[in-house]
Parts: sequence; structure tokens; C-alpha cells
Amino acid sequence: MRKPKIVVLGAGYGGLITVTRLQKQLGVDEAEITLVNKNDYHYETTWLHEASAGTLHHDRARYQIKDIIGNTPVNFIKDTVISINKETKKVVLKRSELTYDYLVISLGAHPETFGIKGLKEYAFGITSIDSARHLREHIEYQFAIYNTETQKKAERLTIVVGGAGFTGIEFLGELGNRVPELCKEYDIDFKNVRLICVEAAPTALPGFDPELVNYAVNYLQNKGVEFKIGTAIKECIIDGIIVTKDNQTETIKAGTVVWAAGVRGHSVVEEAGFENMRGRVKVDRFLRAPGHEDVYVIGDCSLVINEEINRPFPPTAQIAMQQGEVCANNVAVAIQKRGRMMTFKPEIKGSVASLGESDAVGVVYGKKLVGSRASFMKKVIDNRALYMIGGPSLVLKKGKFKFL
Ligand code: FAD
Ligand code: NAD
Repeated sequence: MRKPKIVVLGAGYGGLITVTRLQKQLGVDEAEITLVNKNDYHYETTWLHEASAGTLHHDRARYQIKDIIGNTPVNFIKDTVISINKETKKVVLKRSELTYDYLVISLGAHPETFGIKGLKEYAFGITSIDSARHLREHIEYQFAIYNTETQKKAERLTIVVGGAGFTGIEFLGELGNRVPELCKEYDIDFKNVRLICVEAAPTALPGFDPELVNYAVNYLQNKGVEFKIGTAIKECIIDGIIVTKDNQTETIKAGTVVWAAGVRGHSVVEEAGFENMRGRVKVDRFLRAPGHEDVYVIGDCSLVINEEINRPFPPTAQIAMQQGEVCANNVAVAIQKRGRMMTFKPEIKGSVASLGESDAVGVVYGKKLVGSRASFMKKVIDNRALYMIGGPSLVLKKGKFKFL
């Protein structure tokens, strides 16, 4: 009898958890599992702010997929997903095509640019190892070239971060440590540097505990960050940004603009014609796309409503990994025709935002944490994600053990 074909798209948090759990739940003869990913490595999306600032080498934030899945029974294909045809059950890759009986979409997110002019052309994102390397090198180049020019361009040393959500704040935390190092390396007075955070909402970290927001903002201000709150980026230009506040327009010149103002689901999901909201599919309780019992959507491509507030849960690695477990169980149950499908209910343990190597703010199991205790907890969370995917050996290889 032909084995059912399971195709998993994306080897991020959701995809790798799904595949490693399917390996445990299904016998070799029960299904053919194929995992497709753009690169032959997995990267820790949650560490990309560090690699982008240059406080952590990008190799520390990635590992080989083969080291996690082994050789059998998973067929790993390094290729880029171009499109999905849900009617013919085909996935088109750059170099080949696949058919599936069960599809798991875990392709992650794209930056949400809200159609703002110039962002795609001139702003950097924090999205992958490639983008992290590019941004780190760009910032260092601005510092390296500064003293070589007879007519010094002040804006070379201005870095604008758009968005004071978790990504923007964590990136600024890393810059707070990295920029003094760059100043020392390139003989630049820190007074010539500007680190500007532009946030459209009336507060940084909207929706987060106000006491923790104050702590984070004060901490970053002490590291030299200027906050422009209640100020929206309206356009990105070749040498900076245009912002508005209270109907007043201002141009801020900057050598580096980083767009960290939100994400949407992967474009492949939208283009495949699944019902979606900003690229995210509102999945059923078993994590399937409505009307497609053979298609599971997890991680940043999925949308799950928090019934308590009637709003979507924010897309996080925490949720993607929990979904991976449920998705693997449900695909296995569908194939084996025994056992019970699991309903997905996120168990939010908390969230911690790092403010550089040794400080952070967060709420864990309802308890507020700041400073070195929060930073310790953040590293525990980072190590836990490694453990969940690759066990103790991956933690030993890639884990964060410098706790103070
Ligand atoms: P990802 O883990 O992003 O994986 C997607 C995979 O798909 C990648 O391997 C990618 O290469 C691959 N892929 C993409 N397109 C294609 C294609 N066309 N073809 C083939 N492969 C493709 N969440 C938390 O819970 N805690 C945190 O501390 C935290 N910190 C964060 C810090 C930063 C800087 C950022 C940007 C996000 C952070 N998040 C955090 C959010 C978290 O990273 C995401 O929610 C999570 O990565 C989503 O998992 P995923 O499996 O959906 O996608
Ligand atoms: P976000 O949506 O959480 O925050 C984006 C911020 O940008 C918002 O505060 C928004 O008001 C602001 N913004 C939007 N448009 C703007 C404009 N035109 N000008 C200025 N500001 C603008 O996005 P994110 O920070 O990229 O996070 C994405 C997801 O990843 C979230 O779910 C987040 O919880 C998660 N994440 C978690 C962690 C963590 O747990 N440590 C770290 C990073 C990201």
C-alpha cells in the first residue's frame, strides 16, 4: 500500500517540532515525511536581534537541520517554496514539485510594512541570518567610514529603529552594548551617535505592564536611546525617514533605518488562496485551514483567537512550538486512524524582553521580573527552545550559559 505523504514547509520552531514529534509518533512504514526549508540550517529567529547588532556571531544562532532530524525516515529538501495548489495538493518549489496527502505550513512571517513608501527599498529588517549579517555589516561600515571622510556626515552615526514592540526594544538593548564597542574600535565619540526609536502608539511596548515598560525605557535612555513616542513613520527615504506627530511632519536623517514594526504571515499562504487575515490563517481547533482537513497551518502563518479578549494571540515561538506538538499528534491520529485529535489551547507561560546581555524585563507565570533575574530567565527560555528541538546535546552545543 502507498504510504501517505506528509510535507512540512519551513524548518523553524513550528516545523522542526512537528517533524521531530512525527518521527517519534509514526513508524517508518506508516508515512513518508518530507521537510522543505530554504536553507540547510535552522536559525533561532528569537536571537536575530543579537546577530543583527553584532553582539552574537550569526553562527551561534543557527544549526544544521540534518543534525536534528538524522537521515531517516525524514526526507529533507533544501529548496524555496514558491506556491501551494491546494486543489491538486501540489507544492511548487524553485527546483522541483511535491505532492502531499497532509501538508503542514510553517513558513514563518514577513515584515508588515503597511504599504509605507520606501521601506522595502531603504530599510533593514530583522528576519533571517542573511538580513542579520547585512545589517551588522552595514552598521559597522558606517562607523568605519565616518573618520575617513573630510566632510563628516553626522547622519552616518544615526540609527533609527521603527517600532518599540518586543523586536525593536530587544534590538535597541543590543545596540546599547554594541555601539560603545564600535565607538572604541573606530575612535568615535559616543556623543556623535544617535540611537532613535520611533513608536506610533502612545507608549513603548504597547499592552505590556506599565511598570516594566518604564523600566525598559529608562534603561535604554540611560544607554543613549532617544524615544519618539506617539510618532509614526510615514515614509522611508534614501537617507532617513519622514515622521508625523500631532499633524507635524519631520525628516530625520539617518544612515541606518531598521523596520521592526510588526509582522504578517508568509506571502505563499496569501497567494495560495487560503482565507487569511494579513497572511495568517484562522485555523480550526485542530490547527487545520478551514475547509481543508489535510492542511495544517502553524506558527506565524496561523491565527488563533484569545477568547478572553477576543483578539488574536501575538505570534510567538512559544505558540509555534506548542502548535508543533499538537499538529504532529493530529496528523499522526489522522493517518493511524486511532487515538484522539488534540485541541490547541495556548499555554502562555509569560514573556521576557531582553535589554542586552545582562538585563531584561518580563512576566513569567504572572510574576514580574527585571534586571539580572529577568535576563537569567530569558536565557533559560532560549535554552529551553534548544532543548525542546534538539535535546541536551543541542543545549550543550548552542546554549547560553553566561548568566551574569
Ligand atoms: P520561523 O521560526 O521564523 O521559521 C520559518 C522557517 O521557514 C525558516 O526556517 C525559514 O527559513 C523558512 N522559510 C521561509 N520562507 C520559506 C520558503 N519560501 N521556502 C522554504 N523555507 C522558507 N517569540 C517568543 O516566543 N519569544 C521570544 O523571545 C521571541 N523573540 C523574538 C525576537 C526577534 C528578533 C524576532 C524577530 C521574533 C521573536 N519572537 C519571539 C517571535 C518568534 O521568533 C516567531 O513567532 C517564531 O519564529 C515563529 O515560528 P515559525 O515556526 O512560524 O517560523
Ligand atoms: P509588534 O507588532 O509587537 O510591535 C510593532 C510596534 O511597531 C508596535 O508597537 C506598533 O505600534 C509600532 N508601529 C507600527 N507601525 C508603526 C509606524 N508606522 N511607525 C512607528 N511605529 C509603528 O511587532 P514585533 O515587535 O516585530 O513583534 C512581532 C511578534 O514577535 C510579536 O508577537 C512579539 O510578541 C513577538 N516577539 C516576542 C519577543 C519576546 O518574547 N522576547 C521578542 C520579539 C518579538
